[in-house]
Amino acid sequence: MPAASGNQHNSADISVDVLIVGAGFSGICMGIKLLEAGMKKFLIIEKSDDLGGTWYENRYPGCACDVPAHLYSFSFERNPGWTRMFAGQQEIWQYLKSCVRRNGLSPHIRLGTRFCEAAWDEAASHWRITASSVPRDNGNLSKRMNLCARVLVSGMGALHVPHCPEIPGIERFSGPSFHSATWRSDVDLSGKSVAVIGTGASAIQFIPHIAPSAGKLYIFQRTAPWIVPRLDFGFSEKARARFRRIPAPTWAFRKFLFFALEWRVFSFLGDRVVRAHMEKIARNHLENGVADPKLRAALTPRYHIGCKRILLSDDFYPVFRRSNVELVTEKIAEVRERSVVTQDGTERPVDVLIYGTGFHVTEQFIGMKLFGRGGVEIHDAWRNGLTAYLGVTVSGFPNFFILLGPNTGLGHNSVVLMIEAQVDYIIKCLKLMRDRKIAAMEVRAESQQHFAETLRDHMARTVWQSGGCRSWYQDAQTGQNTTLWPGSVIQYFRAMRSVATSEYDLRRC
Ligand code: NAP
Repeated sequence: MPAASGNQHNSADISVDVLIVGAGFSGICMGIKLLEAGMKKFLIIEKSDDLGGTWYENRYPGCACDVPAHLYSFSFERNPGWTRMFAGQQEIWQYLKSCVRRNGLSPHIRLGTRFCEAAWDEAASHWRITASSVPRDNGNLSKRMNLCARVLVSGMGALHVPHCPEIPGIERFSGPSFHSATWRSDVDLSGKSVAVIGTGASAIQFIPHIAPSAGKLYIFQRTAPWIVPRLDFGFSEKARARFRRIPAPTWAFRKFLFFALEWRVFSFLGDRVVRAHMEKIARNHLENGVADPKLRAALTPRYHIGCKRILLSDDFYPVFRRSNVELVTEKIAEVRERSVVTQDGTERPVDVLIYGTGFHVTEQFIGMKLFGRGGVEIHDAWRNGLTAYLGVTVSGFPNFFILLGPNTGLGHNSVVLMIEAQVDYIIKCLKLMRDRKIAAMEVRAESQQHFAETLRDHMARTVWQSGGCRSWYQDAQTGQNTTLWPGSVIQYFRAMRSVATSEYDLRRC
């Protein structure tokens, strides 16, 4: 923990130059780069009792990354020791912990501290932040604390508020029920009748792990996902030793993976040839995995590939060969105390209910408040849809930066690349403020508007808007995709290369 600074604000318990919210990939990257730039007066607050963000919280069986580990890691912290092509949750979590250790970041992280509210103090040009300690057990009360920071960085990401479906009667269910992100390892599923709602990225990872022990497994699918082969493999000890000895092959492998994934963006941006090729791969995968034509038809997506996130799995389709597994495509009408009833009137007895129903993605800062210039709250500023200039800065919110903000997610490549580009951009902004003695830096409303309009034009042609599906990429009200970057990673790198000061209002100290 950094000591409270000399120029501490009267009412603040802690005063820092930069406050980062979240100690996942984003917050850790930001912290390491601040240290590298010699900017040491910062603090990372994290609501959980350990660091790692999504890779600490998501602990369901089979939880792994569907982006190759050599690319889903920091370019400046390459790990020659990855044991598999697609690393599991534990290995990624340990990797993040080792990054923190190696870079001496631990003293800057305060765990069990939840961000509640922040308000921009125009006169003082800093943020006043309220946070609360998260009680570890029932005996402890939550304690509020006041912080003060010149710069506020959100590293909260978009996949951390679980979405549980609103199904009539769901609150009446009397057995154990939990979300994939809050997995109950204390609930023994063996011999039980288990219902899984959802067939998204998380569900298709844990379903093959719970199917063998469940007595009966009902998989409630609303929309069939596109699934392509995962082709996972382990790196032998010999290969890892070679990676360790000579750094060049790790670098070259990372570059290879980058370009191998980068071309897939063309299918999202409207290239029908690439899209048809990818759909063929997925259809063959389904045919090889599922012999029964009726079941295959039920598992065949009715929209273009890429419209929703493309899933990777080699063990999901084979699950349906098991006699204890049933795919249910009929809409759920009601949940009762110990059963799930579908619209055709069929009632299935259920002991345990598991939600693989995703996250609140398009509603950022749920349960938090952020008051910018003139006291405008960020949810009001975003009432017509989420926008941020380059996905990072928001007009009306000086000295505030978002990592993995609106329209900077990816469906085709590693988001860690986007995080690094954003962190480098923020560091450039901070250096600019330091060198030119700027107290407040705020993107101009016209610049943000122009950026949002350009994105909307690009978005219209993408498969996400025209591929025949509704997805969590899109804002529920406007139908606009406010989640993904409608371009290649290389294009984003170019956009982030330098800070165009003409796009910002800069107020001197
Ligand atoms: P998700 O992809 O949003 O899937 C949610 C599933 O629940 C979908 O099948 C959805 O059906 C269904 N669903 C939602 N509400 C429902 C309702 N009311 N009734 C019935 N079904 C409902 O969520 P997720 O699987 O947790 O994954 C979220 C994201 O996390 C991923 O896309 C990915 O970005 C990330 N993730 C990444 C990895 C990785 O390896 N990198 C692994 C896991 C998760 P519809 O399709 O009809 O909406």
